[in-house]
Amino acid sequence: MKLGYLNEPSVLHNIKLRYSQDMIYTKAGRVLIAVNPFKDLQIFGNDHVSAYRQKLTNSPHVFAVADEAFTEMMRDEANQSIIISGESGSGKTETAKIVMQYLAALGGSNRGIEDKILQTNLVLEAFGNAKTSRNENSSRFGKLMEIHFSTMGKFYGAKSRVVQLASSERSYHIFYQLCAGSSFVLKERLNLRAASYYKYLNQSECLMIDGIDDAKKFHQLMKALDIVQICKEDQELIFTVLAAILWLGNISFKVADSENHIEVLDDEAVTSAARLMGCSTQALKAALSTQKIQSEKDTNAKKLILQKAIHTRDKIATFMYENLFNWIVDQVNKSLQVGKQYTGKSINILDINGFESFQKNSFEQFCINYANERLQQHLIRHLFKDEQEDYESDGIEWTKIDFKDNQECVNLFEKKPHSLLSLLDEESNFSKASDLTFANKLKQHLGTNPCFKGERGRAFSVRHYEGEVLYDTNGFLEKNRNTMPSDSIQFLASCKCELLPLFSKTFDLSLKCSQEQSVCQKFKGQLFNLMDQLECTTPHFIRCIRPNIKQLPDIYDEGLVLQQLKCSGILEVVRISRAGYPTRMTHQEFCTRYGFLLSEANKSQDPLSTSVAILQQFNIPSEMCQFGYTKLYLRAGQTDSLELKRKQV
Ligand code: ATP
Ligand code: MG
Repeated sequence: MKLGYLNEPSVLHNIKLRYSQDMIYTKAGRVLIAVNPFKDLQIFGNDHVSAYRQKLTNSPHVFAVADEAFTEMMRDEANQSIIISGESGSGKTETAKIVMQYLAALGGSNRGIEDKILQTNLVLEAFGNAKTSRNENSSRFGKLMEIHFSTMGKFYGAKSRVVQLASSERSYHIFYQLCAGSSFVLKERLNLRAASYYKYLNQSECLMIDGIDDAKKFHQLMKALDIVQICKEDQELIFTVLAAILWLGNISFKVADSENHIEVLDDEAVTSAARLMGCSTQALKAALSTQKIQSEKDTNAKKLILQKAIHTRDKIATFMYENLFNWIVDQVNKSLQVGKQYTGKSINILDINGFESFQKNSFEQFCINYANERLQQHLIRHLFKDEQEDYESDGIEWTKIDFKDNQECVNLFEKKPHSLLSLLDEESNFSKASDLTFANKLKQHLGTNPCFKGERGRAFSVRHYEGEVLYDTNGFLEKNRNTMPSDSIQFLASCKCELLPLFSKTFDLSLKCSQEQSVCQKFKGQLFNLMDQLECTTPHFIRCIRPNIKQLPDIYDEGLVLQQLKCSGILEVVRISRAGYPTRMTHQEFCTRYGFLLSEANKSQDPLSTSVAILQQFNIPSEMCQFGYTKLYLRAGQTDSLELKRKQV
């Protein structure tokens, strides 16, 4: 079903009706709407793959989008992108996997690489996904998967770029999998207990997920690690770092003097963590309980108070995990790249954290929503602006349609000197600044901006494309600073567990070669790289929709769907494609495709006259089409009769 010719109420009605019949895909202009079924539908098998490959069906499907991208890549020799957006739990990651499955079926001559690319998902999900209240398998990072093809259209290699942003309710799946599934020998070596024993895991009150067998998942992961060629020694290192993180979290402190200075409690946690990290218990204790103060003559160790010590411990653990994740991504990328030289093109699949709005929103939501604002801009540009510019430059008659742009909101984040990001960085550089001074600064400089609203105390609101979001600045400055005390870095450099000195070296290097040290600058940099890469591709859009918040099949909450459609600009897409000419082909393309349907008498050498003749023969009304200088423009649905005839011939 194509929604191009429908108005708003019928769009909603149609999506709902189709969903009740398990037809989860609907096309709105150039966007594929995918409503999460929350159940296994038998529409992803090999029979479906070949039906779409052979173009035996044109009912909307992720396979159809993947096929279009592949066909256009081969035909135009241009890189393509499939941009998947939607709220948390709407099905982006699953959709991305369905795209990969299809591309693997098309491009896989080389079974090894095909399998590797699919197994990459399993590895990245174990380390990068966690359960949240909205999704049991929520991606805590954004991912751009580049799949490279040879000039013959065969799989060549792949690469994933990640934009990482953590924090969630249950910790990453890998920890639970490791505790549940590691062998007896490995458990002994790492001194591993059940997940419930570890503070980093048991605080969430949610140790298990219904229907998920963590032990089984661990075995699948080990196989996947083999397939993506992470060798046994490296796997062992990974597990050691994970166990060290868990034990670090169990380290506790006791107050040692009247000034509230602390000492590390001498127990199993500290000895286990030290052994796994490859340092002495003494060294670890010192790293967690003291801070070196450099005076002119010598360095003294100053004892820390409890809050500081906990902070240092958690910072080291987070640092180890983040670096471990990035290191794994690097290793996987190395194994996916077959040789360096290739001349083919790529299809990029983007699966990035969707827009988030909770009751309390923090720095993480701030960054995610900024990224979504950028992505939305990309969508608007391609769907509305480019389309209208195309009409104008090709000289066809056309009444301009107004559409909601989000440039103002993007500017609020980016436009110097007084943007949200620049003010945040300015304030983060100030050691005396606090979250409150930051909030006040925002109000002072941005108070008159229509997308900004100062709120009481430390809070502020942003009028995003998707709606207004209230942010609490609590923790913004600290989270943005991304500092690792140099003591901690030196300490990690001295550890014998090989990965830790590597992480500290990488950190030092990245500090040296970039001025952009703040987390939001780094995030913005990654985002810009990503957008640059997407700019050079032909985009295809898939918008995932979450039909209910219960994560259950066959429940369709109309209000919830409407809100997502509105926010995403899909209704605008429908409106514009109804008023516009979604089918566009050069005169030559049109003749090549349909010319043979003409009766002999009507045939002509000239593409333009042939096009006119075709339209006349098939009674396509003149108000349904326009002739541009280079292309023929048709309203939605006008080629249906031609397509039907083509198939019959
Ligand atoms: P997040 O932003 O939190 O990462 P997401 O949009 O990536 O969320 P997914 O993890 O892809 O969401 O999907 C959430 C759940 O919905 C899946 O674990 C699965 O149970 C179900 N689901 C999604 N797509 C499909 C599908 N095509 N068929 C069956 N179930 C699906
Ligand atoms: Mg996801």
